[in-house]
Formats: sequence, C-alpha cells, structure tokens
Amino acid sequence: MNEDFEKFQEQIRKCRICWARFGFEPHPLVSGNEHSKIMQIGQAPSQLAEEHSKFFTDLSGKRLKYEWYEIDDDTFYNPDNFYITGIAHCFPGKNKDGNDKTPPKICYETWVKREIEKVQNEIYIIIGAKACEDVFPNEDFEDLVFKDNYLNGKLAFVIPHPSPLNNRWLKKHPEFEEERLPIIRKKIKEVLGLEK
Ligand code: SF4
Repeated sequence: MNEDFEKFQEQIRKCRICWARFGFEPHPLVSGNEHSKIMQIGQAPSQLAEEHSKFFTDLSGKRLKYEWYEIDDDTFYNPDNFYITGIAHCFPGKNKDGNDKTPPKICYETWVKREIEKVQNEIYIIIGAKACEDVFPNEDFEDLVFKDNYLNGKLAFVIPHPSPLNNRWLKKHPEFEEERLPIIRKKIKEVLGLEK
C-alpha cells in the first residue's frame, strides 16, 4: 500500500475531534486500501461495529452482504474489494429514544471528502438517506436510488439502508429489490471479477 495513504488512514484512526461532542472517546473505523475496487459510504458505525472494530456484523450486514450483494464475508472484508467508510467514522452515541445520534457533519468535511478524492475505486455505493444528505445534498433520495449517479466522475449507486428498521421503506418500494437491486448486484459482481 502507498505509504502516504497509510499515513492518511492512520490520521483518521487517531482523530479525536468529536470527543467533547460525544462525551466519550471516539474510535474511528475505516477499512480498505487506496486501490479498493468499490468504495462504500454508509451512515456511521453502529455500537456493535465499534465494539467489534468491524463494519456490518449485525442484521443490517447480513442483509447487505448475503441477500443484496450475494457475497461472503471473505469477499466483503477483503480490502482490495471494498473500501468501507461512512459519513462519520465513529459511533456517535445514542439518543434517549435509543436510536443512534446523527453523525457529525465535520467528519465528512474533514476526512470523507479526501477519501473520495484519494481512493482509486471503480464505483461507489452510497447507503441510506443520511449519507446522501452529505454526498448528494439537495437531491431527492428516492430519485437517487432509482437512477445511475456520478460522484468524482465515477458511477455511484444509492441504496436504502439495509437495517430491519427500514423494512417499511422496502415494503413501500418493492421495485428496489425486484428491479433495481439485480442491476446493482450485477455491476458489483462484474467489478469484483465474480461475473463477466
Ligand atoms: S467522527 Fe470523524 S471527525 Fe469525529 S472523531 Fe471520529 S473520525 Fe474524527
């Protein structure tokens, strides 16, 4: 891996900008390398992801990896395949209602924009409406899901969050899993060299 890029990722891992805001020490999570084929930008790591120091080990991850992408963990966590990041690199804590707090905007401005510039990926996958607010501000989320988008001059798919909390959206939009997802999955497999 490029030494400069390793240093850049090390800087992200050492970042503590949000310590006062969170009220606890942040633990930035980032996975992948400068040449990962697919850059995936999600929300912020969950509490479980932070505890495991690994993204998508929960029910959302099961749906995302095994049902939507149809790939196994070895493929997903291979840093040559996926650069896994979020609009914030740290679990932001929970609100009184038990939901995760909103990811701090400063992370996207400080780190994620630079990751988007530096990583030499082929395509992007943006997960969920919150991530789209940063990546594609002022655009309608549903429009983004059902069309091809471009970020940094590269194809960028937008998908809904795979959390079971999002089942209502999925039920309301069956065309996502029936029609749009097969197109996205095919491209992912092509990029990963799993399908010609
Ligand atoms: S969320 Fe981002 S900006 Fe805030 S401490 Fe974590 S890495 Fe730093």
